[in-house]
Amino acid sequence: MPGSRIAVVDLGGTWVRVALAGRTDRLIERRQERTRLEEGPDGVIGQMARMITDAVGDLTVLTRVVVGSPGPLDPHTGTVYDAPNMTGWREVHLRADLDRLLRVPVTVMNDAKAAALGEYTYGAGRGSNTMVYLTVSTGIGGGVVVDGNLLLGVGGMAGEIGHMSIDRRGPTCKCGNIGCVEVLASGTAIARRFRERLAAGETSSVTAKTDRPTGADVSRAAEAGDPLASAVFQEAAECLGLGIVNCIHIFNPEVVVIGGGVIQAGPLLFDPIDRVVKERAMSMPASRVRVLPAALKDDAGLLGCVAEARRLARAGADGSSAA
Ligand SMILES: [Zn+2]
Repeated sequence: MPGSRIAVVDLGGTWVRVALAGRTDRLIERRQERTRLEEGPDGVIGQMARMITDAVGDLTVLTRVVVGSPGPLDPHTGTVYDAPNMTGWREVHLRADLDRLLRVPVTVMNDAKAAALGEYTYGAGRGSNTMVYLTVSTGIGGGVVVDGNLLLGVGGMAGEIGHMSIDRRGPTCKCGNIGCVEVLASGTAIARRFRERLAAGETSSVTAKTDRPTGADVSRAAEAGDPLASAVFQEAAECLGLGIVNCIHIFNPEVVVIGGGVIQAGPLLFDPIDRVVKERAMSMPASRVRVLPAALKDDAGLLGCVAEARRLARAGADGSSAA
């Protein structure tokens, strides 16, 4: 249809971002607002509908809406089970509610899986066949594309790389498991480990500047050569490397793409990972894989939603199935 548009949404605990795409995959008519969490799920869904309506002007040109949403969710029904950092978001029928407001087919994807598909289609994984994606910030999200298809699993929760257990005596993760990659290598984990070692009597230049150092503080201090921050950061990078080794053995990917704030650390992150992969992974899959930083920054999720809309249009889907 000439002039038709798809709308893509990046829903987060802090920001709602909306953009449109037309004939090309370029994002246009961008909108960004603070997420109105205080208004509850209905308020935020209304906010998304209003932002989309404002961006597109005429709803009749809109052929599909794809939302990347936090949390475990069922992509087949578009129900968000329990979004972290979004108070009151339990069993939210995101697809049905947004569909009712806009009268347009709506698809809901997990945000990390949307970013994985974005990087695979337009970013660091472009041209590859099989790609593993991890995004490391306060938590660790993931997505896996095998032979061109985003892996979903029966309930849409495949690819939760952050909740791969790598230490059976490790700390307890918020998912209930023990020694998950997330509880050992996320930004939150880096900050926690750093504070534990300070409390145990070790010293660092960071404490002079802040009472409660974050993962980003530790990363910056490590870059500046602070020995304690460097040790903590390296330990986390090695844990991430262990998770990646497991992914290499399971998926034999061409590319492992790492996104999220942590990639700012550059060699401080990638050197320990490369070393662990060399030491621990079987030589054939290790020789065929490249571990790369994500290329699309904040747009990975929105572009992944565009890629999903294109896939659905090619498949002639009616919006009842999704990724
Ligand atoms: Zn976990």
